[in-house]
Amino acid sequence: MSDRETIRQTLASAFSPCRLCPRACGAARNAAQGYCQQSSSVVYQHFIHCGEELIISPSFIINMMGCNLDCPACSERARWGMARHIWSGKGCVYGDKVASYLSGQSHVAAIEWIGGEPGIHLPFVLEASWAIRDRLNPALPVYLNTNGYYDASLLPFIISGLDGFVFDLKACHHCAPTLTGAADYWPVVTQNIVQGTEALADRAPQIVRHLIMPGHVECCTEPILRWLRAHVPEAWINLMTTFQNFNRCEGYPETLPRTEADCAIALARSLMFPRLMIDGVPEG
Ligand code: SF4
Repeated sequence: MSDRETIRQTLASAFSPCRLCPRACGAARNAAQGYCQQSSSVVYQHFIHCGEELIISPSFIINMMGCNLDCPACSERARWGMARHIWSGKGCVYGDKVASYLSGQSHVAAIEWIGGEPGIHLPFVLEASWAIRDRLNPALPVYLNTNGYYDASLLPFIISGLDGFVFDLKACHHCAPTLTGAADYWPVVTQNIVQGTEALADRAPQIVRHLIMPGHVECCTEPILRWLRAHVPEAWINLMTTFQNFNRCEGYPETLPRTEADCAIALARSLMFPRLMIDGVPEG
């Protein structure tokens, strides 16, 4: 049996009943929705995006429906009810189509699977990524842009088809239940960030984002920056000041106050990260 066939069979059993993420809610994903409100895998948007981190921009973005977290400021969740289903068929066929399209787009620097959360669609993402790798010449790095809330045992499968991570570290221990909806968010996601960035370090630049949340500089941004400096020294750290209150959440301003952005940027610079970006632009 080939490596891919072994991975296919292992992931098929982790998909239904579903144990792809720590919620392990056991949904029969071929027919029923889990906590993430997704059964089968649906692409609802794909396009060439010039607003990603400069080191991977422009990037071919593939948005997939559904997420296993509940972040109050999510910009995507409200769109899923009315979004067009661009693709809901086989991953390998979609991968062929992406490769065919990108072979005429020599300016594109990377491919990114984004959500929602693409980790909840790992069988589809890998089938499509394998097809892209087989067909696309010259190759492009393929990234999983993930919230990091996936089962740690999936890492060997993820790295079979992908070159890099764009992780998003959102909140610290005590604020995570409010800001992400997952009580075990911090231990799960920090472990996956350390292991994932190490596993793929020699394949492509690894990226960890942190979006500063208004009112959470002291409790979240400061400890997160210090943790990243100590535990993920080789990755690119992207400190983002671009919060927008898309969902008109009570208690949050429309945008991040400038004083909070300045305070977080000053701390990040003082920590002397070897690879630091502010809003996607490398420092120095
Ligand atoms: S990915 Fe979705 S269906 Fe699977 S365990 Fe997580 S929340 Fe449940």
